[in-house]
Amino acid sequence: MQAGDAKCNTVSARTMETFRRLGVANQVRAAGLPDDYPTDAVFTAGFDGPEITRIKLPSRNERMGPDGHSAPGFLDSDWLTPEPVVRLSQYFLNPILYQYAKDFPNITLLPEAVFRRYETMENGVRVIADSIPNDEPIELEGTYLVGCDGARSAVRKQMGVKFRGDSQLGRTRSTLVRCPQIRDLYKNRPAWMNWITNSKVSGVCIAIDGKELWLLHRSVPATAVDFEDLNADQSIRDLLGVGNLKWETIQHVDWTARRLVAEKFRVGNVFIEGDAAHIWIPMAGYGMNAGVADAMNLSWMMAAVLLGHAPPSILDAHEKERHPITEQVSRLAMAKALELAGRHTQKELRPEVVANKVYEINVPQFICEGLNFGYFYDNSPLIVYDDEAPPSYDMGNATPSTVPGCRLPHFWANDDDSIYDLLGPYYSLLQFHGRTIDRSFTDAFEVHQLPLTVIDAEVKAPYFCHDFLLVRSDQHICWRGNALPDDVPAIIATLTNRSG
Ligand SMILES: Cc1cc2nc3c(=O)[nH]c(=O)nc-3n(C[C@H](O)[C@H](O)[C@H](O)COP(=O)(O)OP(=O)(O)OC[C@H]3O[C@@H](n4cnc5c(N)ncnc54)[C@H](O)[C@@H]3O)c2cc1C
Repeated sequence: MQAGDAKCNTVSARTMETFRRLGVANQVRAAGLPDDYPTDAVFTAGFDGPEITRIKLPSRNERMGPDGHSAPGFLDSDWLTPEPVVRLSQYFLNPILYQYAKDFPNITLLPEAVFRRYETMENGVRVIADSIPNDEPIELEGTYLVGCDGARSAVRKQMGVKFRGDSQLGRTRSTLVRCPQIRDLYKNRPAWMNWITNSKVSGVCIAIDGKELWLLHRSVPATAVDFEDLNADQSIRDLLGVGNLKWETIQHVDWTARRLVAEKFRVGNVFIEGDAAHIWIPMAGYGMNAGVADAMNLSWMMAAVLLGHAPPSILDAHEKERHPITEQVSRLAMAKALELAGRHTQKELRPEVVANKVYEINVPQFICEGLNFGYFYDNSPLIVYDDEAPPSYDMGNATPSTVPGCRLPHFWANDDDSIYDLLGPYYSLLQFHGRTIDRSFTDAFEVHQLPLTVIDAEVKAPYFCHDFLLVRSDQHICWRGNALPDDVPAIIATLTNRSG
């Protein structure tokens, strides 16, 4: 497949955990920037000017210690994850994922099909599409349709679902260029992202392959009537501060930053995911990663229905779990954008105060532990809650917790295996402190044909304070306790929304 669009440049740690489960994480981690290319974010007035501040982030060589775990010394070194963030553009990521899907024997990819409309059938959906090269109509039938067709989603429009939110936060011209000359502008340690603000332009220069490919965002001033008011070529020279620069344009896109969330993600057997369901300003690089989280959530529930583990009512939980998180994350991203915009108005501050402020404001978007691990499902019909409330989170901070609804905090089960590697494909029961749950618990899963993997585990951390943790396919905790629950059938009914 040809290269993807150079849009998102961050594969978050949480997304990498999903890719690890799918078996594609190593390939993703190996792609893109050269091994020795740092992923620093630098804030400056231009390549020729002094740096205001620098957030030091590792190259691939610096990232992993000899034990294969995250090396110390970086701001996210102590994150509880087997898969630290990867700074990889969709330009390289999309072809990897495309090939990954292509290699599945039971997946048929139709890259040249253009969705036109769907029809609702008694027990499913019929899709009518055109095949681009010869305009021949294609008809496909299935139980479910999931529209992952981007911000202008034709599926969402046919569902009659509206986007709601904040309609304009700014406009950007983004150009992917081939220009080896830019690499030579770095006199010392290069950066992955250069955030540049000078008297002529404000924008970001992003290293895509660390050699010749660069993504150049330039903000269109609020006073401009349309995108063309920002001269595409001159703004590139202004951003980089080089008059005689020569480049080849590979892709160009003008886009408007918005915060829009679909009022619902489902109508009958038709769903929307990713940008079809939500778009927001790419602060913290979380647009694409939120789409992967949607897919992870919906896919295990859908698999449970199609494999006969759960009734179709389990799917009611998808929107109840993901819609609140989508609202939260979109608002955190917007708040960060407004905070960043605010710093430009504080011209009276001394340079060192500005440097500290820029550093403090930006660290949470590059080290966004809260967006990765802090979110929890707190109003789900599929989770057996107890009396403890989950800890709150913000963009940069998360508190590990085993409160039902939270992601299982990661720990290494032994020198090589992440606890996530040992989890079963559906439900997993972790038994701590040498305890074994009563047989009637595991029997109930068998009776209801819910696959359960039982794991004896040991870990020392204050938040692992229960003997038994039940973990779902998506690594979120759905029940915990110190003894056999009184009403096991009621728990089973909740896990799959049987009574829903
Ligand atoms: C310039 C730019 C920079 C960005 N930077 C970041 C960033 O730094 N961090 C971040 O997290 N996010 C960023 N984003 C957003 C990120 O790229 C998206 O969130 C992500 O690509 C969404 O993935 P998706 O699969 O939902 O939608 P898309 O990537 O839009 O994919 C939709 C797919 O559906 C196809 N399609 C559409 N209509 C049809 C049809 N009728 N029939 C068949 N196929 C169809 C399209 O061709 C496309 O392949 C950026 C976006 C842009 C535009």
